[in-house]
Amino acid sequence: MQQPLTGSFELIKNINTACILNMIREKGSISRADIARGTGLTPATVSNITAELISINLIKEMDRGESSGGRKPVLISINKTACYVGGIHIGSTAIEAAVSNVSAEILGSARAPIESASPQEAVKLGLQLLEQAKVKAGVKDLAGIGVCTHGLVRSDEGLLVFAPNLGWSNIKMGDMFAEASGLPVFMENDVRAMALAESWCGLAFGVKDYIYLYIGPGIGGSIISGNELFKGQGGFAGEFGHAAIEPDGPLCSCGNRGCLQALASEKAVFESYKKRRAANNLPLNCKNYEGLLYIAKDGDKDALEEILRSIRYIGIEVGNIINALSPLLIVINGHLTKISEITMPALKKETSSHCLKYSDIDTKIVFSSLRDEAPIKGAATCVIRQMFESPKKFLKD
Ligand SMILES: [Zn+2]
Repeated sequence: MQQPLTGSFELIKNINTACILNMIREKGSISRADIARGTGLTPATVSNITAELISINLIKEMDRGESSGGRKPVLISINKTACYVGGIHIGSTAIEAAVSNVSAEILGSARAPIESASPQEAVKLGLQLLEQAKVKAGVKDLAGIGVCTHGLVRSDEGLLVFAPNLGWSNIKMGDMFAEASGLPVFMENDVRAMALAESWCGLAFGVKDYIYLYIGPGIGGSIISGNELFKGQGGFAGEFGHAAIEPDGPLCSCGNRGCLQALASEKAVFESYKKRRAANNLPLNCKNYEGLLYIAKDGDKDALEEILRSIRYIGIEVGNIINALSPLLIVINGHLTKISEITMPALKKETSSHCLKYSDIDTKIVFSSLRDEAPIKGAATCVIRQMFESPKKFLKD
C-alpha cells in the first residue's frame, strides 16, 4: 500500500522555498506581493523565505517596479553569480568539462578525447579538464559537480549501469567523482540531462510537460512530466531510440531488430550512405554524418535521399509519441538541426502523416536552442536544480 504523504516542518519549508525560487526564475523579476499571489503562500512566509535567500545571496533585490497605486514594490531576481558549478559530460568519444553560473551560462570549458580510457582515468581526466575550465572562467570555488554520461544511469545511486560505447558497466561513478573532488556530485544520463537543461534555460523553459529526442551516434529520449524526469518502473523510460520501426530491419546494439536507432542514428545513416556508394562503385563525397548533411544541402542526391529516409523513420516515431502521449512540445537535438531548412519541413510532413487526424495540431515540434552545448549545460543543470530545491545545503550566510 502506498504510504500517505507526510512532511516535517523542514520538508514543507524546502517545498515552499523551491516554489518561491521557481516563481522568481520563471518571471525573471517579481515583487514579494506577486510571489505570494502566484504561489498561494502567505506574505509573511514569502517575506521570511526571501530574507533567508537574500542572506545566502541566491536572490537579490532590484530596482522598484511599477506601482498599482502607492509606493513602488521592490522587485526580486535570481543572483546568477551567487555561486558556480561544474559540469562534466562523458560522451562516447570525448570528455568535456565546464564551469557555469546558476543560470547554466557556460563561463569556461575544456575538452579531450576519451579513447579506451578506464573509468578511473576518465574521472581523473574529467577533473583535470574542470580545473582548466575554472582557470578560463576565473572561478576558484565550485558548489558542486554534475556529471552526465552516455548509457544507462541510476541517478539516485550515482551508478553508471552500462555505457555500451565505452564498454563500462556497474561503475559507481558518482562516488568516484565525489571522493576525488570533495564536492557534492549528481549524475544523470546525458540525454536526460539535456532535457533538464532545455527546461532550465532552453526552449522548454516554463513548459511543465514535454518530450525530448536526441538524434546522435545513438538515439535517446526523455519524458519531462510536471517539471520532473519521468523514469518509469524500471528507471529507463524514454528510450524512443529502441522503438521498433521495421520488425525485420537491421540489428540494433540492444540486440533487437529494426529499432529507430538502427535505422536513423547518425552512425546508421552514414553507414547506409557508404553502402549505397559502394554498391554503385562511387567514391564517398564526405567523411562523416555532419559532412553528409552539408553535401545534402548542396544538392548531392544520394546524401539527400539518405537524410530524408532517416527523417521518415524519425517522423514515424514522433508520430507514435504524439499518438501515445499528446505532448504540448517535442524538442529535438542533434546534428540534423544544422540543416533545419531541409530537415524540419520533412520531419513535420512525415510526422503529420503518421499521426491520428487532428492529434498533432496542438503539438509544437522544435529543434533545440542549446544545440552542441546541451550536454554540458545539462550536466551543470543537474547540480543547479538540486541547489534550487535545498539551497542551504550549497550556500552559507
Ligand atoms: Zn535497439
